[in-house]
Amino acid sequence: MVTEKKIGDKTVFLCDVCGLGYSDEKTAQDCEDYCKAHPGSCSVEISQKAVYFPDTPVLPKK
Ligand SMILES: [Zn+2]
Repeated sequence: MVTEKKIGDKTVFLCDVCGLGYSDEKTAQDCEDYCKAHPGSCSVEISQKAVYFPDTPVLPKK
């Protein structure tokens, strides 16, 4: 389940696993699917499209 979040006058879609936010729901869903299939690692291809980064990253640091 992707979470919709309002930031200022923008809406971003958050991956529920890693917490990164995307400007479209489809990409956020792609990220979430990837995160669920590959716990602890994000797809570089997907995460480079992120427009929002959580203050407290959910991903463990390497
Ligand atoms: Zn993710």
